[in-house]
Amino acid sequence: MGRRRRTRESRPRSEPPRGRRRAAARFGGPVVTPLPEPARAAASSVRPAVRAPAGKGAPASVRGASIGPGQLRDGSSFRKQADMTLLVLLVQVALPLTLLAWIAVYPAGSLAGFVFQAAGVASFLYALARVSQWAVPVWWLPWVYGALWLIVVGLWTPRIVRAGARLLPEGAWGWAGLALSSALLIAGAWYGARAIAARSLPPVEVVDIANPFGPGDYLVGHGGSNRLMNGHLRTLDPEVARFRPWRGQSYAVDFFGLGPWGLRASGWRPADPAAYAIFGAELRAPCAGRVVAAEGARPDFEVPNEDPVNRLGNHVILRCGTAEIVLAHMRQGSVTVAAGDAVAVGDRLGEVGNSGASTEPHLHIHAQRPAREGAPPISGAPLALRIDGRFLVRGDRLSGAQE
Ligand SMILES: [Zn+2]
Repeated sequence: MGRRRRTRESRPRSEPPRGRRRAAARFGGPVVTPLPEPARAAASSVRPAVRAPAGKGAPASVRGASIGPGQLRDGSSFRKQADMTLLVLLVQVALPLTLLAWIAVYPAGSLAGFVFQAAGVASFLYALARVSQWAVPVWWLPWVYGALWLIVVGLWTPRIVRAGARLLPEGAWGWAGLALSSALLIAGAWYGARAIAARSLPPVEVVDIANPFGPGDYLVGHGGSNRLMNGHLRTLDPEVARFRPWRGQSYAVDFFGLGPWGLRASGWRPADPAAYAIFGAELRAPCAGRVVAAEGARPDFEVPNEDPVNRLGNHVILRCGTAEIVLAHMRQGSVTVAAGDAVAVGDRLGEVGNSGASTEPHLHIHAQRPAREGAPPISGAPLALRIDGRFLVRGDRLSGAQE
């Protein structure tokens, strides 16, 4: 259990406006905020933390004081944490169970009513399974809901048919149930279709790379070609000036790790980054090329603290052919390459950490055109990324190297 730090209740400057946060929170808020939300705080110098690279289990705390006042984005307001937990519990646990209980306890009395009720709940649960981040509570929970749906519908169907139920509902309650079922069916179909559409490649060049991970299992938190499934896409619009420095990351993929039982961390949202399955996971060069930039001295933060200024944290940028591959939020002291180094596919680059603007340990990886001379490092044109031949979207799982 991590210590809980009570802090200011006020919203940090770099956080998006409330409205946008709420939009992102549809179907359960993203646990990992994608990289940008460009730092509006134009702080210039962040002192590196005074902590040596942590071994697993070592105390992994970085105090705000070691960073310089006002520069550590302290997102750990107790209220915000509680909001997030409540939202996930409501949307990803209470809501599906309520819908399943609705069929189990109050099955519609008519044939049409029951068919729509079963289909509406199925459609809604499908969309929820695709669109939500299931790193929390756990990726296989939608499969449990699916199994419960089969059991409930399988038990009621023969009874309703045998009872010789009428075709159409009767009375206000009957029609209200049908209306609710139809609304669920339409909402589920809409969001389900959007989730499937995110699998189609965006209209940019696709860069094929090898798997960047050493051994382990990983889950995509953000990925795909639309904003519903990939929050990074909000930096795509070149008209928005404050997103321009981050535009290269618009088709990025964020990965969580999967530990025992498919859990991404030991605990709900522990403060210690080492409690997350992906922390310390080995990263390897996914393409052959040259190291353009490498940085490895920035601190790994306690969750949910982050650095709003040096948003990439420790990172490696590889130039492979005409594209650049960017790996961000790496572990302090783990980066083993330096600018100018040549790398072959599979060469060790370092480890996943929790540096920069990372809400919890995860790997951020994207492909871009090199930025113009003197421009911010990830302001190049965004490219799509295919890993081991797959264009990954939220919820996809990827296994790292076998050895
Ligand atoms: Zn990201």
